[in-house]
Amino acid sequence: MTALNELGLAEARDVLGRGEASSMELTEAHIRAGEAARPLNAYITETFERALEMAADADARRAKGECGILEGLPVAVKDLFCTDGVLTTAASHILDGFVPPYESTVTANLWRQGAVMLGKTNLDEFSMGSSNDTSYYGPVESPWRRPGDNRPLVPGGSSGGSAALVAARAAPAAIGTDTGGSIRQPAAFSGIVGLKPTYGRCSRWGVVAFASSLDQPGPLTRTVRDAALMLRAMAGHDAKDSTSAPIPVPNFEENIASGIKGLKVGIPKEYVLDGMPPEIDKLWRQGITWLEEAGAQTREISLKHTKYALPTYYIVAPAEASSNLARYDGVRFGLRVGNGELDDMYQRTRGQGFGVEVRRRVLIGTYVLSAGYYDAYYLKAQKLRTLIAEDFTSAFGEIDVILTPTAPSAAFAAGEKSDDPIAMYINDVFTVPSSLTGLPAMSVPAGLSADGLPLGLQVIAKPFDEATMLRVGFALEAAAGFDARPDFVAAG
Ligand code: GLN
Repeated sequence: MTALNELGLAEARDVLGRGEASSMELTEAHIRAGEAARPLNAYITETFERALEMAADADARRAKGECGILEGLPVAVKDLFCTDGVLTTAASHILDGFVPPYESTVTANLWRQGAVMLGKTNLDEFSMGSSNDTSYYGPVESPWRRPGDNRPLVPGGSSGGSAALVAARAAPAAIGTDTGGSIRQPAAFSGIVGLKPTYGRCSRWGVVAFASSLDQPGPLTRTVRDAALMLRAMAGHDAKDSTSAPIPVPNFEENIASGIKGLKVGIPKEYVLDGMPPEIDKLWRQGITWLEEAGAQTREISLKHTKYALPTYYIVAPAEASSNLARYDGVRFGLRVGNGELDDMYQRTRGQGFGVEVRRRVLIGTYVLSAGYYDAYYLKAQKLRTLIAEDFTSAFGEIDVILTPTAPSAAFAAGEKSDDPIAMYINDVFTVPSSLTGLPAMSVPAGLSADGLPLGLQVIAKPFDEATMLRVGFALEAAAGFDARPDFVAAG
């Protein structure tokens, strides 16, 4: 039989359902794999003891015939979700010792469906980054290496710990958050599936805020079916989040394999970038052919304001971050440095508590919101955000989904772009437009770069039409047959 930590989420569900293994055995295999994967630094906090208790409870419920849709299945949780009684850090020094007295809605939904928590995963500090090397707890290493080159690579970010564990077979699924690409880009770099739902599909309540109009929780898994299963468990209306959508959650898995005949797929011409590596373009062309062979019709579309998306994002996101992060003042949460004058305590706490990238964003955000510059930057960015949204609305009058690359390159070496924020921000060029517009988007592993590293294709869909997006993702996955494995695969 396949080792238990090699099973995907839906496969593991079926194995438990047939009584071929218990949740306890499945969880123990993932704990051993998590221990073997420690060199990747993917967890900030392991909750293995709690996992064993949750697994025992799940087995007991199953014995009584009470099964949630994730009954007994272990998952890892980005350390941006508040978890009752478990340290929650956002990978920042400023949240030192913060143990929330409450549970985020999304994680509560997972536990209600019977899932088992393996631990809290590493990320870029406050989710700001594309490489998972801004964490106070140290960088995460990708389980992948370039053949013949032993330099560590980044797993992508900011949900890098979640992506690395799923890719290394130390978790069958994990959750992350995506503000400008933080689920999709690490999924593409790590050779797994990453799904950002429509803004409002999953509650943000109890998720440490980065940019509230953009943040959205979502799953990272090894298959498209597993993403559908996770999303169904995570999603749903929540009165505690005023932007949560009061619409029903379909069974996303139900029609996932029903094919894409007759579906109209838009190919945005503005996503062809100067200087884009030819292998990215080639994979995109290949993706178009795959969808056509599966019966879809593809056509070129125009999203005219695409080139403004990245600068717009890097005004809106820091603006919201500067406001959200104002709450970390040393009074109520985590770290406090100094105990003399109040202003002095604020300055020391924030100066020492936040890392370089977070301070950069707070400065940019404060600047673009300041009285003299508000109209020139923030207001202009908001107007562009509307124009970008209108591009999508008019394109979706004629098409059902959009196909693009997920990222403009494969994973890079650790530290390679850390000194150049602009080079780092360019990673998000294909992911931020759907973030600014709240549209659902997912990355599916589709091939390897010339260097032997994973590349992803992105499917963007209409608001709340994750079901169609998943159907297209499923067809892409079947055509691509991506079965490459990272160099490091944990033994369970
Ligand atoms: N890389 C982007 C940023 O640094 C996206 C981050 C995210 O989605 N959380 O802002």
